Amino acid sequence: MSGGNQAAVRELAERIDQADAVVIGGGSGLSSAAGYDHYHWSPALAEALAPFRECYGFTSPLAGFYHCFSSYGEQWGYYSQYIRFLWEAPTGQPYLDLQALVADKPAFVLTTNVDRQFFRVFPEEQICAFQGDFGYCQCSQPCRDAIWENQELVKELTGRLVGVRLPEDAVPRCPDCGRVLVPWVRDDTFLEGGAWKAQVDRYHAFLRRRLIELHEKYPALGLDSLYRLLKPEFGCSRKRVHRQMRLAGISSVRRRAYKKTTHSNHSHPIAPNFLQRNFSFDRPDQAWVGDITYIPTGEGWLYLAIVKDLCTRKIVGYAFSDRIDTQLTLAALDMAYRRRKPARGLIFHSDRGVQYAARGYRERLEAYGIRQSMSRRGDPYDNAVAENFFSCLKCELVHLKHYPTRAAAQDDVFAYLEAFYNTIRPHSALGWRSPASFEAELAASAA
Ligand SMILES: [Zn+2]
Repeated sequence: MSGGNQAAVRELAERIDQADAVVIGGGSGLSSAAGYDHYHWSPALAEALAPFRECYGFTSPLAGFYHCFSSYGEQWGYYSQYIRFLWEAPTGQPYLDLQALVADKPAFVLTTNVDRQFFRVFPEEQICAFQGDFGYCQCSQPCRDAIWENQELVKELTGRLVGVRLPEDAVPRCPDCGRVLVPWVRDDTFLEGGAWKAQVDRYHAFLRRRLIELHEKYPALGLDSLYRLLKPEFGCSRKRVHRQMRLAGISSVRRRAYKKTTHSNHSHPIAPNFLQRNFSFDRPDQAWVGDITYIPTGEGWLYLAIVKDLCTRKIVGYAFSDRIDTQLTLAALDMAYRRRKPARGLIFHSDRGVQYAARGYRERLEAYGIRQSMSRRGDPYDNAVAENFFSCLKCELVHLKHYPTRAAAQDDVFAYLEAFYNTIRPHSALGWRSPASFEAELAASAA
């Protein structure tokens, strides 16, 4: 395996490791990597079908499938040998590798491959072969909704081959109408009947299970967020997610929004407003906003101060306390500064609350080379970006739970922040990316 491939495989293994579930899209690239290219002659198939290749001059195995034979005996002569090979060919290494990579993750296979290889390594209920399967036959003008497994049939037929031809009386026919049978693979008469629908349903059931899991974990997420979370995995449309949500009886449980906390009846000086409702910064660490909220627990309030980056929407600093004071806001600021090491001149914006206007806070900002900015009186609009985080936090987490202790609330909010809000949750303002992936893209495009 080449170095480039190894790196790609390592990256794939990491991504599978991080995923909650895996959807595998298998196409012709995988069959040719496995040595069973159906669009060109690979050695294994060329050897198995040599007499037919020589006799008809087929340019590929599938060319034979679409060839106009002069009799059904000739047609089924070819089919029987081709299909028997598919039943008996050893499992291709890439399929075994894939099985090992996926291991016991919940997985589903969506494949256009009709050569049965996926059925060797994944259980049937985890596969949707929506282009059909050479392992089955159907009536050529489907007179009824039935397909027949053909493993024994093709073994028997190849035993009756005379050169490249079957006797006409050996040609398999529909038990109902007597028409010739054909392999159950995508063609102009492909039977999208019960067996096909059952496969598609299996895929939808898998999608619904993922939707239900996500919904149980994050009950407040609505259609758009769920869709953005599932899209990279499933590549499915918003409409399909919507339909499966309805079938699963899922709807978001958003609750009332947030209430203000800080008060500004103090005699500390007020900083000018540098933000002026400009929320668009094209690089991280040009402007941060800070705010405080409180979370009810069985022991009383738990206060949370955050610092959020206006470009990436990432929460870069936060602190918890049972008291709402300057120590709290300072701890969040210190964390943000330690983590980000911003250049001088960064704007820090907040409301006029005493925890931000106090001398200790102003001095720390100055020491960090950060310019302080505050909302105008009665216009909290500039702080909307920070408040948006609290509204997500409360709707998606805090209002849905009852915390007996501050420690329990802190653990939960910490996990929400680091393992979900910053890293997974899609943000509409970021083109439905998470802050972490948005930041990574920015860094990559700057490099
Ligand atoms: Zn029929």
